[in-house]
Amino acid sequence: MPGDIVIRPPSEAYSIIIQATRGCSHNRCSFCGVYKGVRFGLHDDHEIDRQLAFARQFCEHQRRVFIGAGDALILPQKKLLELFAKIRSTLPWINRISLYANGRAIRSKSDGDLEALKSHGLDRVYMGIESGDDYLLGWMKKGETADTLAEAGNRIVKAGIFLSTTVLLGIGGPEHSLHHARETARLLNRMRPNQIAALSLMILENTELGRAHSRNEFIEMSAEDTVRELKEMISGLTLDRVQFMANHASNFLRLSGRLQKDKEKFILSIDQALSDPSTFVPSHLRAL
Ligand code: SF4
Repeated sequence: MPGDIVIRPPSEAYSIIIQATRGCSHNRCSFCGVYKGVRFGLHDDHEIDRQLAFARQFCEHQRRVFIGAGDALILPQKKLLELFAKIRSTLPWINRISLYANGRAIRSKSDGDLEALKSHGLDRVYMGIESGDDYLLGWMKKGETADTLAEAGNRIVKAGIFLSTTVLLGIGGPEHSLHHARETARLLNRMRPNQIAALSLMILENTELGRAHSRNEFIEMSAEDTVRELKEMISGLTLDRVQFMANHASNFLRLSGRLQKDKEKFILSIDQALSDPSTFVPSHLRAL
């Protein structure tokens, strides 16, 4: 719909995007400028039917659907089940449905609701956890603690839904870097996600963090320190058979593989890059 902001994870690059909501029901994270000024709301049936009709006509080679926007799981259960049924009947070739969910959206569903969503087609949930450090979670106004995030993530996994988590390198600045890395690894070990994506902080002017940075109240991490933080985080991960990616456009060093299998390889690549920082992705080539 005109004016809709369409954001999707990199692994949904070839998915059909059905914008079922606009904005984010939380919209308070101090680093996030994506939906600033966008009033959260649901799209009506007419608009969703229009998007599905377009997809039926023009997207027959795309096998996946991603339901936008910032936390689409917050949709009422009945609406989600109706939406999945419509997707299956209008686009019968689809083999994967995914969406973003924050902790609050997950808590709005019972275990039975999550199981019903899984059985009606929800295959994958993307959840931004950013950090496992309670101080940083409070400071960035995430509206969560490590315990609430762990519980929410565990419930997704228990329902049999693929859980993809995102963590944010650099969000604690140099002062909190070590604690951020260690506590985030600890939280991920508790959550047991299927996939972990590490992004690197890019400070946006239109955010609370951007304003704190311009007042010199937040110190941005250097590329080297951000990569050292990544190494500390990876070192603390004891999870096995989990996809680990630090190949987002915001990262200074691109890594992709599986833990624990590729852990030593990751550490070696990081050490090699730290010994020659000219191999880092230059700042002007980083993007969100
Ligand atoms: S929950 Fe996600 S989309 Fe919403 S404000 Fe926070 S980071 Fe942005």
